[in-house]
Amino acid sequence: MIPINGKTQILGIIGNPIAHTASPQMHNAMLEHLSLNYIYIPFKIEPNQLQNTLTAVRAMNIKGLNVTIPFKEQVIPFLDALDISAKQVGAVNTIINQNGHLTGYNTDGSGFITSLKIENNTDVRDKRCVIIGAGGSAKSIGFALLEHGAKSLMILNRTLTNAKALKSNLEKYYQAPIFSSDFQDKNQYDMLQEADIIINTTPIGMDPHINQTPIEAFDWVLPQHLICDIIYKPKETLFLKKAKEKKAKIGYGYGMLVGQGILAFELFTQHKADYNLMKAEVLNR
Ligand code: NAP
Repeated sequence: MIPINGKTQILGIIGNPIAHTASPQMHNAMLEHLSLNYIYIPFKIEPNQLQNTLTAVRAMNIKGLNVTIPFKEQVIPFLDALDISAKQVGAVNTIINQNGHLTGYNTDGSGFITSLKIENNTDVRDKRCVIIGAGGSAKSIGFALLEHGAKSLMILNRTLTNAKALKSNLEKYYQAPIFSSDFQDKNQYDMLQEADIIINTTPIGMDPHINQTPIEAFDWVLPQHLICDIIYKPKETLFLKKAKEKKAKIGYGYGMLVGQGILAFELFTQHKADYNLMKAEVLNR
């Protein structure tokens, strides 16, 4: 237990709901391990109290916050500055308070890239990538893949207009070829087979709908594919099970959660976080 005294600095997470969050366990375990005099607290915030919350963060000198659903975008007008990661994605998951000046960051996408390096020994540079889905997490992962040198990106989504919108957004910043398609596209399995890394960013397969997969067929899967899910409940989705049966390499959804956490921790404290220690906290819940 971290001893709390007059010098203890406060970190936390704001969201609604918040009861499910793994972040307090991850961060407090890391703070304790490094004997840092901070405490990390979950705050359930009502949507009409968001502005007051940010005022209180300044008034009470809360050093840093993580931000989760539904506030990642809504929080932006109340901040003083945005890091490029948050500016591109249009969403913030980490806030740093420097003497009342609040800067928003987004460590979700780079957290995913970090987890691929640590869990799968994989660098995305020059890799052909497919993202299934075109929502908030697809956006942060898409930016991070291209920022880290992915060779090409295919966005495969239920609603083609949403895939096209994400493609146009990414093309404003990056030169790499970006394609968009939907599940009606007869070539979807050829595109998947030609890729190196395939990532499910849809909620399909998430508890309690654990018998569903975002795509129907798996005969295209080869052992050289790295197939990832960002769903972490269940730990192994049916999508990953099917990929494993085909001997593909797989990336678990907890990786992105831990990856964004270690990067946020480093922004909060300027101390290096231990991926495996924070991962153990997520897996032992
Ligand atoms: P989101 O912004 O709502 O986007 C959801 C995407 O999934 C959209 O592209 C949507 O397609 C597609 N989709 C939803 N239901 C579908 C269905 N029944 N069939 C086909 N496509 C469907 O959601 P998000 O915030 O990106 O989150 C997505 C998932 O990622 C959730 O399961 C969440 O728990 C997980 N997640 C994990 C982490 C982590 O750290 N591991 C972080 C964030 C999120 P349309 O465009 O057609 O609507």
